[in-house]
Order: sequence, then C-alpha cells, then structure tokens
Amino acid sequence: MSAPVIQGWCPGALRPMMSGDGLVVRVRPRNNSLTASQAEGLAATAIRHGNGYLSLSNRANINIRGVTTETHPDLIAELMALDLVDANAENEARRNILVNPVRPHFLGDPDLYPNVPIADALADALAGPDAPRLPGKFGFVVDLHLGLRYLGRDIGDIRIESAETGGQDFILRADGMSTGTRVTGDTAAGLAIEMARWFIASGGVGPDGRGRMRDHIAGGAQLPAGLTGDVSPAPQARPPKPGPYGGGKLLAFAFGQVRAEKFAWLAKAGGSIRITPWRMVYFSSGLKRRRDLHHDGDFITNPADPLLNVVACTGAPGCPQALGPTRALARQLAPLVPQGKLLHVSGCAKGCAHPGPAPATLTATGPGRYDLILNDTAAGTPARPGIQPDDLTTTDLFPTG
Ligand code: SF4
Repeated sequence: MSAPVIQGWCPGALRPMMSGDGLVVRVRPRNNSLTASQAEGLAATAIRHGNGYLSLSNRANINIRGVTTETHPDLIAELMALDLVDANAENEARRNILVNPVRPHFLGDPDLYPNVPIADALADALAGPDAPRLPGKFGFVVDLHLGLRYLGRDIGDIRIESAETGGQDFILRADGMSTGTRVTGDTAAGLAIEMARWFIASGGVGPDGRGRMRDHIAGGAQLPAGLTGDVSPAPQARPPKPGPYGGGKLLAFAFGQVRAEKFAWLAKAGGSIRITPWRMVYFSSGLKRRRDLHHDGDFITNPADPLLNVVACTGAPGCPQALGPTRALARQLAPLVPQGKLLHVSGCAKGCAHPGPAPATLTATGPGRYDLILNDTAAGTPARPGIQPDDLTTTDLFPTG
C-alpha cells in the first residue's frame, strides 16, 4: 500500500486544495452558523461554480467541490458578498473553532451558556496582528451546555467545556489532560489564547510546522500553573441522532453530502442552519415544513437508517490519493452493520472521513481490493489484508459481535 500524503493543512476558501474533481473550496461559517440568506446564497454559488453539491466536514465546515481555477475568483467574490470569507488566508486557516452546534439559546440571558461570545472573542484574537502562529490543523473547541459535553469525541487541541461540577461551571482544558482549570465567560477566550502561546513557546510545533496538543502533553510538556487545574469535564452526551432535539431538529445527509438545491430549500423551510461535525445540520427552532421531509430521499430523518452506521470519504475517482471507490461500497454494506456499530470505508490509509478507530474499517489498497481492519484506524494492521468485499457477511465485519 502506498503511504498517503499528509498535507499538514486544511483547504479553505481563499486557499483551496486541488483534488481529482477540481478545487475543493472549504467555507468556514462563523460559529458553525448560516443565516437563511447565507445558506441560500451558498447553495446558489455551489450550483454556479461547483458540482452542485455541498458536503459537511467533520470540523463543521462546508466543502464546495469541482471548482475550476478560472471560476474561483468569481466564487470568492460571491462568498465575500455573503460575509463567508475571512480577510486573508492566514486568518481563515487559524480560525479553526468548533462550537457546540446544539447549544441552547437563552434569549433572556445570553451569558448563561456563552458559546458564541467566547467563540467570537477567540476568532477576533486569532485575527489580530499578534495572534499566535499555530499549525494548520490546530483547533479550538467551545462546548458549553447544561452540564454536558457534545463535542468530546471531536478533535480539538484547546477545549473550553462544561465542567463536571455543575450546569454553569466551565473549564479550560488542554487536549490530552484529564482535567482543566475553571474559567468564566469573560476569562475563557483570553486564557485559551495564552495556552496557545504557551504551546508554541514550549516547543509544541515541530520543524515541519505541525504539532498537536495531545502529542505535546504525551511528550511530557508541563502546563504552567495558571493553565492547569483539577476539575474534570462534564460527561459526554449520547451521540445525537436525526429527529427532534432540544427544541429544534437534527437532519442528516448520507456521507454528509446534499444537493445544493435541497440545501437552499431547507434554508427556506427552516431559517438559520447550524452545521454539526456529525454529518447533520441543526435547526434550532425546528422546521416549518417538517412533514415534507419524511418523503425526501435527500435527507435522513429516521434514527435507525442503516446509512447512519457507515462513513466513507470521497474515495475514487474524486480524490487523487484514493486507491478505490468508497461510497457505493459503504451503501452496499450498510444493511450488514448492526445498530451501535460503525463501518468505515476509506479510499486510502489516511482515513479522512473518520480519523479515529472504528469497529470495522475497509481501506482500499488497489483495484477491487481492501484491507479489513478491526477496532483500529484506516492505517491499522489488517485482520484480513487484500480482500474482495463483495461476499462479506456481518460476522466477517464484526467477528466479536
Ligand atoms: S482518506 Fe479518502 S479522501 Fe482522504 S486522502 Fe484518502 S482517499 Fe482521499
């Protein structure tokens, strides 16, 4: 198997990445939120300049694929008019902030769970002239909500989270540490930036410009006293499923991809849209025309839909690194996956669609051939190398039940 190319950076809108089907343009909505008019405008842009689809990333961003170098400037002009582009590519890359998408909104008291004010303060600090020069994939998580965490399974180097001690207690925690220090809505962003500066000053960034907090902590780095504490994070909420949720509604797309035309329709039906890192969107105040959704093949509204138990990256032919197709195989195998299990089909060992371990992973290794890997990542040691997946059974994929 040839080793995947690790880029060390993520595409943006101003700095797109070339793929097998053209440029990938990644739009990073501020606070994971789009107004209805931004969502409609974004959909129109994807139809005009991309392949007509929008896909959700596992950092709650939105990719437009199939863009050409000739039309990219026009696309950027349209995104600027929608207020969906940062001032420059550096600011865009650094504004890597994941905000709890199912956050409550207390209109009477917006400071009760200040996810958005904290994320805004972080974004402003990261856009400043003296902002810490962080590695491309380094990210922040803001995850406050009624004594629970929703983003505990999502990657983030510096985390501002609900504390175990109560509904309105928050902590700042370096990824890799089991506990953090108490913060408030007013102090959280400033201390998080201080932690980012410490990460750089203490050697967290390698000579190749890359670095993750978890690796730095595992390597023995010691946080200064003001940035460490003994408060545990709140418990992790159960993984959200499509359907009514917290007064709103979650809607899933197979493989996180939706026709732009349908996305625009959703904005008309539901108003502002919050993007989640879970291949779903959230309508905080429900959907006006929700009955229509039950008969629409573009959306997954049934929490027991087999397609929710499979993840697959773009694969061949869209990704130049892919050693085989992914999504058609994942669709074919989805009925074999028991509820509560997950099958990851990856076009190569990089495992973009699911960087962590999965109960079963099929990693393409060449024409018609896949490695079956159990309880590990797409790059793990195969239990059955080089198999042809057509005759696989549930027991083959999940031998321990
Ligand atoms: S995991 Fe998939 S999308 Fe990522 S580089 Fe490999 S083939 Fe491409």
